[in-house]
Amino acid sequence: AKTTQDDPFARLNPAQRAAVEHGRGDPAPGPLLVIAGAGSGKTNTLAHRVARLLADGADPYRILLLTFSRRAAQDMTRRAERIAAKVLGPDHPSVRAGLPWAGTFHAVGARILREQADRIGLSPAFTIHDREDSADLMNLVRHERGLSAKETRFPAKGTCLAIYSRAVNAESALEPVLADSFPWCAAFVEELKTLFAAYVDAKQAQNVLDYDDLLLYWARVMDAPEVAGEIAGQFDHVLVDEYQDTNRLQAAILRGLRPDGRGVTVVGDDAQSIYSFRAATVRNILDFPGQFDPPARVVTLEENYRSTQPILAASNAVIGLAAERFTKNLRSERVSAQRPLLVTVRDEADQARYVAERVLEAREAGVRLKSQAVLFRASHHSAPLEVELARRNIPFVKFGGLRFLEAAHVKDVLAVLRFAGNPADRVTGFRVLQLLPGVGPATAGRMLDAVADAASLREGLAGLRPPAAAAQDWPGLVELLTGLDADGLGWPAEIERVRAWYEPHLERRYDDAAMRAGDLLQLEQIAGSYPGRERFLTELTLDPPDATSAEAGPPLLDEDYLILSTIHSAKGQEWTNVYCLNVIDGCMPSDLATGRREEIEEERRLLYVAMTRARDSLHLVTPQRFYVAQQARGGDRSVFASRTRFIPAGLLGLFETRGWPAASDPRAASRPAMATVDIGARVRGMWGA
Ligand code: ATP
Ligand code: MG
Repeated sequence: AKTTQDDPFARLNPAQRAAVEHGRGDPAPGPLLVIAGAGSGKTNTLAHRVARLLADGADPYRILLLTFSRRAAQDMTRRAERIAAKVLGPDHPSVRAGLPWAGTFHAVGARILREQADRIGLSPAFTIHDREDSADLMNLVRHERGLSAKETRFPAKGTCLAIYSRAVNAESALEPVLADSFPWCAAFVEELKTLFAAYVDAKQAQNVLDYDDLLLYWARVMDAPEVAGEIAGQFDHVLVDEYQDTNRLQAAILRGLRPDGRGVTVVGDDAQSIYSFRAATVRNILDFPGQFDPPARVVTLEENYRSTQPILAASNAVIGLAAERFTKNLRSERVSAQRPLLVTVRDEADQARYVAERVLEAREAGVRLKSQAVLFRASHHSAPLEVELARRNIPFVKFGGLRFLEAAHVKDVLAVLRFAGNPADRVTGFRVLQLLPGVGPATAGRMLDAVADAASLREGLAGLRPPAAAAQDWPGLVELLTGLDADGLGWPAEIERVRAWYEPHLERRYDDAAMRAGDLLQLEQIAGSYPGRERFLTELTLDPPDATSAEAGPPLLDEDYLILSTIHSAKGQEWTNVYCLNVIDGCMPSDLATGRREEIEEERRLLYVAMTRARDSLHLVTPQRFYVAQQARGGDRSVFASRTRFIPAGLLGLFETRGWPAASDPRAASRPAMATVDIGARVRGMWGA
């Protein structure tokens, strides 16, 4: 008989075990929903279920695991492998295979669309635009249509993209999106429709997909029976974590993959739904069981294994006031005398010093930096803390902030790689050609037109005559662009060559060229861990690595570093000590949000997510003075903090830092398609074109 120690499933509680064993032995088990509060072991249960499937003989290539981030997918894969290894042994092929189809909806969508490209009228060489590139393309199209922001008060490019994105992800007509979320743009509804139709045309002509297209095209492919059956037939099991933060397109994809729900497991917590600004809807999880006949099995979990009882009590109190909620309050067996601490500090500089001291104190007491996290609502809220940490030489990694790949020099190198693969991509082409001296937007535009008309990139480039100032650099660029594909360099030699070509440009353009050169070396290292250019560009664009404190890039894995994260990026994770910044009215809930009921509710859930990340110790910090940037009105406004109205004071310990030393200033070319279904036409049809 097996002892508890070698049975990896022995530690599960009865409800968790029921979820793991649901439909065991049935090759197509009925749909399953696990819905429960934070820290109740949903993700852990999902990992065990995958391991159970593997141990029972499921083919790892036929398991599709959809997570919220690439990191979460890797994490879950490792966990499932470890559990399965205990049953099958570490060398079993099903353990060694890993989970080849674990990833985000977007990353998996990109792979599936590329595999099916020929059959759905896409060129497999399509490039993927990040948000910045998408906004730039929107801008190009806007100018072509004469819809300039300055003269007509037409919405800015970022706003146009946000409106477009919301409508696409919510599968909604434009009018209600404008009325609900962008009322100040409602007068432009006709112009926006024209613009969006033109934006879709431009993307299709240039062989480009944006983030939203990865879901949109995938969802539309699933409506086309000719292709959908084949994609759905690739998988026996589809499992989704954090289902409360999916949008209508994602639900449509899931329905398309498994219309009868057989083989589907979704887990989530409606109280943690925090992505409505990306059109996520909590209806997906609430409506899930009733979609099927017979309805899905629903498993709820009741015990929280993560947080101490006092932390859980305060978190329950926050979410207990929510207007609508399906999941029940949890209990915790983890007794502790330490209540979460509500800390009053003078201002943000004081806040930064307070957190830094507490972090060091905890490290002295044996809590590694990696087991401590500082959470905040908006990325820029951590700026004063970052300064303080740098001053004290405390290393940190920041999640959800400005990403490594958004730095101009890194984008330049990636643009060269991308343009070589898809010369029809205009935004990318503009970026590459303007690296040359004397080439501005007008010249670059003319050159790109000529390239687009030519039979190949090589021919297109050969026919161009660059301006005199660029003459010296021109042959080098042509050689680089045409050689990348022709010379059979292999990966990652291709990126090495681009870097070598780009380095002199660094010196010409930037004062801190040495540091940026270091970034590029690091990029090359990251590139080495991908099988080829395509996967590298796709996956990095979709889920870029995070920014760090160290000039030389992310600290090595065995080093210790503090975690800084937006609350949105902290989803699903846990730390021994958690510090929440700016827990004050005007910030959490955000100033922008106050007023509309649904938005206040979302702010409440956001605070609940933040608090429930803590295992042993939770600090909620409230600066008495807080500067809110009022971009629209110009100038800053100081908010005098009242304590957040969400938390009953009796559940908190109180601490004030009054009498600390005076604070400093806190502000411191497309191939012929062999289409069987024209998905592009369906997408164009959305805008009545
Ligand atoms: P969230 O809603 O924040 O995503 P979750 O429900 O996914 O949380 P997990 O992250 O899976 O919760 O688990 C929370 C913690 O509880 C983890 O440290 C996990 O190892 C632990 N845990 C889960 N189930 C058990 C159990 N049966 N016995 C002991 N510990 C458990
Ligand atoms: Mg989880």
